[in-house]
Amino acid sequence: MDRRNIELKIFGLIVGMAAGMILLAGIALTLATRHADQRERQYEQTLVGNGLRQRGKEVQTALNPYVIWDEAIIKLDNQFDPAWARQNIGASLGGALGYKVVYVLDADGRPIYGHVNGQDVAPETYARYAGPTQRLVETVREIEKDPKKVAELRAVHGSRVELIGAEPVLMTVSLIRPDLKAKTRGPRAPLLVTGIPVANSVIKTFSDRFLLHDAHIAIVRPADPPSADAETVLGKATDGRRIVLRWSARKPGEELLRSASPLLGLAILAAGAGSILLFRITRRAAKKLLLSEAEAKHLALHDPLTGLANRTLFTDRLVHAHATLRRKPGHLGVLCIDLDRFKEVNDSYGHDAGDQLIREVARRLKVICRETDTICRLGGDEFAIIQPDTTPNGAAALAQRVVDGLSGEVDLSIGRAELSCSVGVAVVSDAEQGQAELLRQADVALYRAKEAGRGRFAFFEPEMDAALRLRKGLERDLRAALDNDALTVAYQPLTDAKRRMVGVEALARWTHPERGEISPAIFIPLAESCGLIGAVGAAVFRRACYDSLRWTGLEVSVNVSALQLSAPGFVGEVEAILAETGARPETFMLEITETALLKDSDGVHEALRRLKRQGFRLALDDFGTGYASLAYLRRHPIDKLKIDRSFVSSLPGNGESVAVASAIVSLAKSLGLKTTAEGVETQGQFDALIKLGCIEFQGYLLGRPMSADAISAVRIQAKAS
Ligand code: C2E
Ligand code: CA
Ligand code: CA
Repeated sequence: MDRRNIELKIFGLIVGMAAGMILLAGIALTLATRHADQRERQYEQTLVGNGLRQRGKEVQTALNPYVIWDEAIIKLDNQFDPAWARQNIGASLGGALGYKVVYVLDADGRPIYGHVNGQDVAPETYARYAGPTQRLVETVREIEKDPKKVAELRAVHGSRVELIGAEPVLMTVSLIRPDLKAKTRGPRAPLLVTGIPVANSVIKTFSDRFLLHDAHIAIVRPADPPSADAETVLGKATDGRRIVLRWSARKPGEELLRSASPLLGLAILAAGAGSILLFRITRRAAKKLLLSEAEAKHLALHDPLTGLANRTLFTDRLVHAHATLRRKPGHLGVLCIDLDRFKEVNDSYGHDAGDQLIREVARRLKVICRETDTICRLGGDEFAIIQPDTTPNGAAALAQRVVDGLSGEVDLSIGRAELSCSVGVAVVSDAEQGQAELLRQADVALYRAKEAGRGRFAFFEPEMDAALRLRKGLERDLRAALDNDALTVAYQPLTDAKRRMVGVEALARWTHPERGEISPAIFIPLAESCGLIGAVGAAVFRRACYDSLRWTGLEVSVNVSALQLSAPGFVGEVEAILAETGARPETFMLEITETALLKDSDGVHEALRRLKRQGFRLALDDFGTGYASLAYLRRHPIDKLKIDRSFVSSLPGNGESVAVASAIVSLAKSLGLKTTAEGVETQGQFDALIKLGCIEFQGYLLGRPMSADAISAVRIQAKAS
């Protein structure tokens, strides 16, 4: 599942959750609000109902002075007096007290007086009210039958809102009773019927008192739908219609909701913000997860030190580039890069410095290469580049850029290191060869570049293969020879001007079981490049030590490779061999090359001092071919210079060589050093060198390298003669 999908899912989930929560909260709030509103409505309805009943009681109470009155019994029942009725009932109740409807019914229920809307009316007009008040009259008459109850109640009223026509009117039927001693004619008393229209104006005073909103009277038919408004039933008509007082009840829940809505809005906003935050956090977490997955993937395919592709990714890319070649003709280049003498940096500066150097190399390679190239660290100080869609010239140009880019001094935290590299290049134009073969060819070319002197690049050529195979075979065989102690040592005499042997140089010899004699010029560099030089040197030195014990007064020269000198355990190993063989260091002259001094590291300097202190003497081999300056000669405890064979061979005819040889001899003299001329093959050379002031000579003219036995034999012969 890709990141987008996961994010969408998470987002959906959170939004869903938030929406769900808001919905739930909304439902709960709505329910609570509705409940609160309903309770308020009920409360108001009860309140209004009680208020109305109270109002009815007030109306009734206001009638009491008129209906509990001896004079009323006398004037209305005992002897009806219409004038009295008009003045005391009609004018008072209908006038001052504002009853719109006033009627008096006699003991038999017949209307005997009427007063409507401030005017006396014919009693017969009561017919309009008779029906609606019938129930009230019956109720009151029912109570009248029970004297105890009448006495208890004092005033007997019955009130109801009745529909008179279309108008709701609060009708009250009251039993007219004596207050002192008057007595009705019969068992029944007369009745007072009063009516107050429950007009909206009346309701208004009422609603003002109860703070009712929008209060109004409504006539509701049974079939009418229920109203959302609050209502209280005032009365019910005989046909089932109800007279109700309606008003819109307060809605505290809604009000609360409304007053709280900014707060609620804030809460919803907060919830929204919360879910966004939650989303972000989860997204970040998810991203992290995905990232760590990506990181793991990256780690699996990249070198942790440099961030470059590792061998796995390299192979992958190479296979891919190779496959592309099949589809699209062109050239594919592979470059193998090896840092020259990286091991020395690691050994003398430490691994941190080595890592720094590797990182710097990676950085420079990134600058040199194009985006489409794949740079890889194959391991250690080996790098490789895949250059897709190139030409042989393009590959050569890149190789040269790499050689140039990875040369010169590099600042490390611990000091400066000299950087150089060798590059092997292989280019294929068809997909016939496998991709592994391509890498192998680049590797072979790299060997060639190193052999050719490092700091350069070489293209793979088919004949390199044979050389490489030979080389690999030789390496394997050399190891075997060392294991079997099969290396031997030849000694070449060193003589004075009188051809007397004053010393010998120990020279390693290797007779290959199939190939026969292998020249040290071949197997010594091979041993140096494959890490066997220490073992070879030790084998030769051990042999020379044993052999030296056979000769007295003969200086034995032993060659020491620059790589041996800079190896940390070298001096200790030499001491161990001396101890083992019982040889004396004073017998030995250690021949080192200029390149050993060129490194000029503290390690080399210290090794030379220690060897010198032990009694070894030191010779500078192949002098004149390298860069050794006077400064080096002064700084190191050198005893002898060996003039390189190349100067000697062109003697005595070549003027330039004479000049160089002469300069070296006089230089040596001025520094108090001995000089030995190498490769003296002719008498002419020998004579010329003697003339120049050379004091020691080595060469085929004076003696070929020979076995230790042969040296002993020569010495015996010389003594004899
Ligand atoms: P080198 O130290 O300069 O040794 C002298 C080389 O010159 C020897 O070659 C020797 O056989 C050769 N030589 C001597 N006189 C003449 C001459 O008159 N004419 C000619 N053309 N050559 C002459 P070799 O034995 O083949 O050794 C080659 C090089 O191998 C040596 O050069 C030395 O650098 C290296 N080598 C030999 N043995 C050892 C060893 O035990 N340890 C180390 N580190 N290097 C060694
Ligand atoms: Ca030598
Ligand atoms: Ca030499």
